[in-house]
Amino acid sequence: MTVPAPHETYDAVVIGAGPNGLVAANRLADAGWSVVVLEGRPHIGGAVHSDRSVDPAFEHDMFSSFYPLGAASPALRSLDLEGHGLRWRHAPAVLGHPRPDGTWATLHRDREVTASLLDGLCPGDGEAWLALCERWDRIGDALVEALLTPFPPARATAKGLLRLRSAGGMDLVRMLLTPALDDALWPFRGEAPRLLVAGNAAHSDIPLDAPGSGLMGLLMTLVGQVHGFPVPEGGSSRLVEALARRLDSRGGEVRCSAPVDRIEVEGGRAVAVRYGGGSRVVAGRAVVGAVVAPILYERLLDPADLPDRVRRGMRRFQLDPSTVKVDWALDGPVPWQVPAPYAPGTVHVGDSLSQLSESVGQIWAGYVPARPFLLMGQMTTTDPTRSPSGTEALWAYTHVPQQVRGDRGDEGITGSWDASERERFADRMQARIEERAPGFAGRIRARRVLGPRELEAANPNLIGGAVNGGTTQLHQELIFRPVPGWGRAETGIRGLYLGSASAHPGGAVHGAPGMNAARAAIAHERFRALKLGRRSRPGSR
Ligand SMILES: Cc1cc2nc3c(=O)[nH]c(=O)nc-3n(C[C@H](O)[C@H](O)[C@H](O)COP(=O)(O)OP(=O)(O)OC[C@H]3O[C@@H](n4cnc5c(N)ncnc54)[C@H](O)[C@@H]3O)c2cc1C
Repeated sequence: MTVPAPHETYDAVVIGAGPNGLVAANRLADAGWSVVVLEGRPHIGGAVHSDRSVDPAFEHDMFSSFYPLGAASPALRSLDLEGHGLRWRHAPAVLGHPRPDGTWATLHRDREVTASLLDGLCPGDGEAWLALCERWDRIGDALVEALLTPFPPARATAKGLLRLRSAGGMDLVRMLLTPALDDALWPFRGEAPRLLVAGNAAHSDIPLDAPGSGLMGLLMTLVGQVHGFPVPEGGSSRLVEALARRLDSRGGEVRCSAPVDRIEVEGGRAVAVRYGGGSRVVAGRAVVGAVVAPILYERLLDPADLPDRVRRGMRRFQLDPSTVKVDWALDGPVPWQVPAPYAPGTVHVGDSLSQLSESVGQIWAGYVPARPFLLMGQMTTTDPTRSPSGTEALWAYTHVPQQVRGDRGDEGITGSWDASERERFADRMQARIEERAPGFAGRIRARRVLGPRELEAANPNLIGGAVNGGTTQLHQELIFRPVPGWGRAETGIRGLYLGSASAHPGGAVHGAPGMNAARAAIAHERFRALKLGRRSRPGSR
């Protein structure tokens, strides 16, 4: 490895080569800035990484897989990653939820198919689904834009307000604010559409009886209806490789195995970054911390440099729950007892609305769920290039508490998550699948279990196995993310921006926090240049 010169200078230094760091770097390079991305791990991608370590014939996504918000996100779309080698693949159905009676709640990319499947389960629900889709057609893109652009989203809000009346007015607003579990306001008679919404809400950590869960569930379900849940052909790494190729084509640089130790602040401005135990790079214009808030504020900055407001806010910063993920290489497809009407890429495993809510509630109460809700990915079903024909690259993950008070199941899990606990809990997850797919265990040729510690070791950003850069509950969203009063990329230190999932609008692969950070840096620089220009003009002060 060549040792870099001790005082290199770039316009911008981006810390972390996850999707947000790479989006930020691309945007800065587009503005003509010289950019270097420093990544602590030996490879780029953060929680977007695939490899063949479960079985050499299978490409498994180690963390994230499905990117509906990526497909919907103005930030990612603006980068034309397809022009840099990215190809999206879709499963025959977006999402399926196998129920104990053998029926499936199914989301299909063709809304008429979704509606007819829902109607077959409960007459009237098909019509209600189509009516909901029509309302979404009027306002959905404005809502997505409002969520994925910097706070406050003035333009998207204006657009949304103009269309709100035709989309259902206050009725729609009220429905969006309704908890996923609340019976009263949902326009469906049967449980199947509600299971789709509640299961999607459970992708976040918002309790299903709390406001915000309905909005999250509905947003994910309707984005899935419109855009599908696409995956990058060949593995999730292909997505970040496209970002890196694009950056390279614009002169940006990525350095791996370059963990950042310290951000230097002088006179209230971030001026340089120290990394790799002795190297230093000067940031002429900006530093973007595309790492979670506790890393940026508590590990990379001297506490004396931190504004009081941030220091106080970070004392109450709340992580999202921890995670256990299992990857399987299967000799054949999942042997569902009753096959789905259309094979879904994403599968939710939960018995009913109330059981789903119970398992999410147990996590917040500090207990390991007895019957965990599983989020599963049938990856070869979605993208046949992932493993040999006739096999399945499968994963499932579930959340567990950050601090375990006890186990609602029988295995006496204590939260040590040592090898024995990880394997026993993976068996519990596997048993959930076996209930719906008898004979599942007989198809396994390899299994990998990643507990909270393994996840964090593979990506230090996943503190304690938290996948979303902080809780997605309302009290830490919008202007409360990551600390009250912020909601934007600015950190209170000039020239330093937070550009990770810990910033508004939070977790998932949509690139919005990275894009917001880059835009804020560019805007401030323009303003600074204007001020300096004015000062240097004769007669100006
Ligand atoms: C198991 C799992 C499943 C998920 N599933 C999905 C999904 O299906 N769809 C979806 O949209 N989202 C999913 N997510 C969430 C999504 O992956 C994250 O929200 C997203 O990756 C956040 O991007 P980021 O760039 O902010 O952070 P990350 O992707 O975590 O990247 C941060 C990078 O910073 C690096 N870093 C940390 N500290 C330093 C340092 N000191 N110096 C240098 N580098 C450092 C890390 O090594 C890492 O590469 C999932 C996440 C996990 C963990």
